[in-house]
Amino acid sequence: MSEIEEIPEIRLNDWLGYFFFPIGDRAHAGICLCHLTENGEMCVSNFPFDFPDVRAAMVNPNLPLWTLDKEDPLTLTPSLICKGCGLHGYLKEGMWAPLPRWIPDE
Ligand SMILES: [Zn+2]
Repeated sequence: MSEIEEIPEIRLNDWLGYFFFPIGDRAHAGICLCHLTENGEMCVSNFPFDFPDVRAAMVNPNLPLWTLDKEDPLTLTPSLICKGCGLHGYLKEGMWAPLPRWIPDE
């Protein structure tokens, strides 16, 4: 492939959306969750899916992977936590279901 394809972002609401990222031959190897923090700043976190080829491509084998329960509408388990801003919730049936904000224990 010589051209870089535009990856469409799927908007869930006015402050949250995602797009699939590829690894190797797998076009949908995980999602980038793009969202606004409580301060209105742009934040992005990656959630790779639990497939053998994705697992094999991970530099750090201890990083968590998510189960792709359903691609359309998107359903992932377990819940998604952004370690950058503390965003926490479920992606279920293509909708964002918020959970209490994640607070690092340090
Ligand atoms: Zn975040």
